[in-house]
Amino acid sequence: MSDFDAVDVIRAKRDRQPLSDEQIDWVIAAYTRGDVAHEQMSALAMAILLNGMDRREIARWTAAMIASGERMSFDGLDRPTTDKHSTGGVGDKITLPLAPLVAACGAAVPQLSGRGLGHTGGTLDKLEAIPGWRATLTGPEFMSQLREVGAVICAASDKLAPADKLLYGQRDVTGTVESIPLIASSIMSKKIAEGTGALVLDVKVGSGAFMKDVDSARELAETMVALGADSGVRTVALLTNMQTPLGLTAGNALEVQESVDVLAGGGPDDVVELTLVLAREMLTAAGIEGVDPAERLKDGSAMDVWRAMILAQDGDPDAALPTAREAHVVPAPADGVLTRLDAFAVGVAAWRLGAGRARKEDPVQAGAGVQMHAKPGARVRGGEPLFTLHTDTPERFERALEALQDATTIAPDGARPDLLPLVIDRVG
Ligand code: URA
Repeated sequence: MSDFDAVDVIRAKRDRQPLSDEQIDWVIAAYTRGDVAHEQMSALAMAILLNGMDRREIARWTAAMIASGERMSFDGLDRPTTDKHSTGGVGDKITLPLAPLVAACGAAVPQLSGRGLGHTGGTLDKLEAIPGWRATLTGPEFMSQLREVGAVICAASDKLAPADKLLYGQRDVTGTVESIPLIASSIMSKKIAEGTGALVLDVKVGSGAFMKDVDSARELAETMVALGADSGVRTVALLTNMQTPLGLTAGNALEVQESVDVLAGGGPDDVVELTLVLAREMLTAAGIEGVDPAERLKDGSAMDVWRAMILAQDGDPDAALPTAREAHVVPAPADGVLTRLDAFAVGVAAWRLGAGRARKEDPVQAGAGVQMHAKPGARVRGGEPLFTLHTDTPERFERALEALQDATTIAPDGARPDLLPLVIDRVG
């Protein structure tokens, strides 16, 4: 005997009524048990996408998703925990240099990450480009790495917010991802269940992100910050630019190389800047003061943690990274200033080259992706390389080139790109 009927819950939201706490608890628990069918949950997700949820409903929905699984705890650890979550972007490899950097500054970073779906890459796919590296750890392995190395990036266990795992799989194939209540509850249920003491959210804004404009990104950020505060997790959010890709690479091994460059004291300016801004926020949220992360990049201690982190998960930090079998150079069509380089177009091109997957069971190519030779503001010369495309399967070049057809604008000398700043705003 169930307390509610799934169809009644769907009808209520379809007819713009708020769901009661009891309805929410029941529908999430029954869905996790398999008593509410995927098609019913998909219909409810669509009703939520169209009609929204108020703050009480979102908080209850998040709590019910947390309660669907286990909660981790780091009570026995001698350093404060702090984590970062990005809502996803193109070329967003920041977690790779950031986690070891923040650990080198004295915090513990428990990063449970995901794989890429669609045009945004996944942190685990990137790290799996490193020969031998293993994404899955047992609970004791996770805890001992966090204690000894200070940073862990690995796959979340199936026991953490299982309702979200089921629901996200359905949202992905039913056009119901782009809903602020569903995104906020999805992200925060996993992060709160993960047990971090502090959390910095990197909410991306622009063509390469879920949130295309600053107002909707701010609403998402405020919703997530409030959910964190309700659960005792010190949470702040930065709104950051995803109109154009981060760094000069989009693709798994290409992005690992760029991250290692940052840890070695080089790398593209925007990747270095965002890594440092987020590191400072994570340290402040964790209550760690008086440590300058820029120094830890310079003195090699962040690189030391990176190497220990990769080795602890059976990866070889000294192994050559895989490269794709084929490359295709796209020249700049004219002389001038690159004023636009569209993140979404580059993300789709990298995905079509094999860096991402269309279905969650698809394999990814470690070496595939897009290398950019200029960023907005740079002067380019007609005929010189603008992009290099990499793939093992050259029949993919044509569709990737189609994606890049309108990806850039080259304006006469003296023109300036009309771009939002890298860090647009801070919430929390
Ligand atoms: N990332 C998540 O984990 N969930 C969403 O709903 C969107 C992005």
